[in-house]
Amino acid sequence: MSEKTLRICHLYPDLLNLYGDRGNILCMRRRLEWRGIGAEVTEVTVGEQADFTQFDLFFIGGGQDFEQEVLLSDLKAGKGREIKAAIADGKTFLTICGGYQMLGSYYRTWDGKQCDFIGAIDYYTVGSKERMIGNFLFECLPESGGSTVVGFENHSGKTYLGSGVSPLGKVLVGGGNNGEDGYEGVRYQNVFGTYSHGPVLPKNPAFCDHLLTTALQQRYPNLELQPLDDAAELAAHNTMRDRIGMSARGTLSQEKSAASSIAVTGASVGRRPASLASFPVNCSGVYFCRRASMFRSPSRLESLRPSGATSSGACAYSGALPPSVP
Ligand code: GLN
Repeated sequence: MSEKTLRICHLYPDLLNLYGDRGNILCMRRRLEWRGIGAEVTEVTVGEQADFTQFDLFFIGGGQDFEQEVLLSDLKAGKGREIKAAIADGKTFLTICGGYQMLGSYYRTWDGKQCDFIGAIDYYTVGSKERMIGNFLFECLPESGGSTVVGFENHSGKTYLGSGVSPLGKVLVGGGNNGEDGYEGVRYQNVFGTYSHGPVLPKNPAFCDHLLTTALQQRYPNLELQPLDDAAELAAHNTMRDRIGMSARGTLSQEKSAASSIAVTGASVGRRPASLASFPVNCSGVYFCRRASMFRSPSRLESLRPSGATSSGACAYSGALPPSVP
């Protein structure tokens, strides 16, 4: 029995779970267990109730417009109010895409359906016919740990933050909140909202630990997480980061890189490949065995740096990638 335990509430796991978002729960659990900290996960979906005050961290995944509409009555019936109270109480939240949109005021779909959400944080989302789809890269602002995050986005919604609301990070490659202002996600109190599916946490261990520390410190003030051997996770992170940077520059198409990869396992969480040199993680968090050593050729990564908006409004690299995480 662990001395310390993090209590996680997974909201709407059956409805909001695109691209294996549930893998984020597995990742958090495993990274806690590796440090001798327990994790208790409670799933709460439509029609179910729980005492929200007992939880430390809430996780909400992404969903299609249809599922987002299905949830509206349940949010109105009381969960919306409880979620707002939990946010005000300083609970930690990780919300992805549809789950992120849900904490804002509303989502108006591209075909005009209005989803009035809970309005816990001042932002709104408007659907566009052109979806933002693909691997993307952003850098968290310092108050959210400052790490670089590799992810995968697929959303029609364009999210606009209110003037007093901070984003989670700055887009380096991809669309992010709206493909216009260069920002990604939201950070409000202890809420971390992002468009990054994937799942996002296994291949972004620094971001995962920042989140876990935020949540744990509410229950155990001053707790610091012990460092882990993150060689596999960082190999995955750095490989995706390099691949995204290169494909943004057009030096290598993502289709080509996917074609040269061979999937070798299922869920990535907890797997420790024997040889790390050729085991990055693809955009859906699956370990891949890679043949193309060219991906890591330093000469191909030279002089890349963020260049702001492209003609389509999305950010792309034209300069130096952020340094590899050692
Ligand atoms: N349905 C929403 C949109 O398209 C959210 C999508 C998602 O969660 N991936 O914007």
